[in-house]
Amino acid sequence: MSVLIIGGGQAGLQVADSLRSEGYSLPITVVADEAQLPYQRPPLSKDYLKSGGVPEPMPLRGPAFFAEHDITLIQGFAAASVDRANRTVALDDGRILGYTYLVFATGASNRRLSCPGASLPGVHGLRTLDDARRLHESLIRATNVVVVGAGFIGMEFAAAARSHGCRTTVLSPSDRPMARTLSPDMARWFIPAHERLGVELHLGQSLSHVEPDARGKVGAVVSESGQRHQADLVVAGIGVTPNDQIAAESGLDVQNGILVDEQLRTSDPRILAVGDCANFPNPRGNCRSRIESVQNATDQGRHAARTILGLGSEYNALPWFWSTQGPYRLQIAGLVDPRNDTLVLGDPLASKFSVLGFRDNQLVAVESMNRPADHMAARALLGSGHRITRELARSRGFSLKSALR
Ligand code: FAD
Repeated sequence: MSVLIIGGGQAGLQVADSLRSEGYSLPITVVADEAQLPYQRPPLSKDYLKSGGVPEPMPLRGPAFFAEHDITLIQGFAAASVDRANRTVALDDGRILGYTYLVFATGASNRRLSCPGASLPGVHGLRTLDDARRLHESLIRATNVVVVGAGFIGMEFAAAARSHGCRTTVLSPSDRPMARTLSPDMARWFIPAHERLGVELHLGQSLSHVEPDARGKVGAVVSESGQRHQADLVVAGIGVTPNDQIAAESGLDVQNGILVDEQLRTSDPRILAVGDCANFPNPRGNCRSRIESVQNATDQGRHAARTILGLGSEYNALPWFWSTQGPYRLQIAGLVDPRNDTLVLGDPLASKFSVLGFRDNQLVAVESMNRPADHMAARALLGSGHRITRELARSRGFSLKSALR
């Protein structure tokens, strides 16, 4: 038996690591198309870009890990196709590798701008260490930065650009930042919070095109309403698409990611998918989800290893997430649905508060701003299935920590 993992990111390495820690002793191979030793992505839009010079992001595992755990890492080569009938994977250099179990941990790729001027020099995306290195170089010299899209990465980048003193403008068609993933209470709170950092938010504004300057580099971003924003650096943060093409070409079911069952198996039981590329049945939301977070990649990696070893059960890990935007440390426990009923605990004006989200009068998510104790208590409460109703949360003296007792 052998396990082949496509993708050397958070999820892929966790599968390999967990297989070994669960006692699996047969061959494991990880095919990783990036040139660097697998690294952590979250710092790329945060500390790494902050003014003041920051060390390179930490590797996910040290260089000795692979030899110590007898894991073959094939670095700098991509899997090009899968032959399910013969259980083989072809690499882009023509090598053919066999497998007993195959795991897709291929992550996601940034959506690119498609408007006129989108490929001018000075227009960037941010997903990889190479992207972040290029951006850091440009940021040091930039004066006017325009961020297209107000998702997590766009807003984290905007805060980083302000720390370099750049005039920073965010353009987004939605009426509030991070609208898809945050409650309206939390998302709206971020508007004045970012304005205090000096970020200019142009919400409800779609991008029309990017204009060149006299040297043929990016010069301005123009919105559909005709507003022109001067720019010598543009960052597109308009979301990602899952890397599911090879899976689709091999005949696996794919729809916004590789479709998996509750044990993370694809429509071929010898093939699993984990992390950003996997679309799984989520019992916490009674829906299918594709979650882009470190927690999801790590927990699914662990779970997939157990499925391969015949120890599988329903994947039901509590989602949690964090985002740092300048001085604002947001932590989320549970699955936020912007339609949830909400209740605010703490003091939004002091930038220390939590938004509790309820579905059917049951606490299902907690977004905490600079309240780490709330976040930890929320994870414990939601993870253990405590029943917290809106009435209980409104009662005198209630706190998430006290509800744990
Ligand atoms: P990835 O980390 O993307 O790894 C997939 C790997 O597979 C990549 O190296 C890719 O190049 C490779 N690959 C793809 N196709 C092939 C192929 N055919 N052959 C070989 N290799 C292939 N999450 C949080 O929880 N908190 C944060 O604050 C946070 N900040 C983030 C900031 C940035 C800038 C980014 C980009 C992401 C951030 N995330 C954050 C999200 C988190 O990093 C991802 O959800 C997580 O890395 C997903 O892990 P993964 O292994 O599924 O995918």
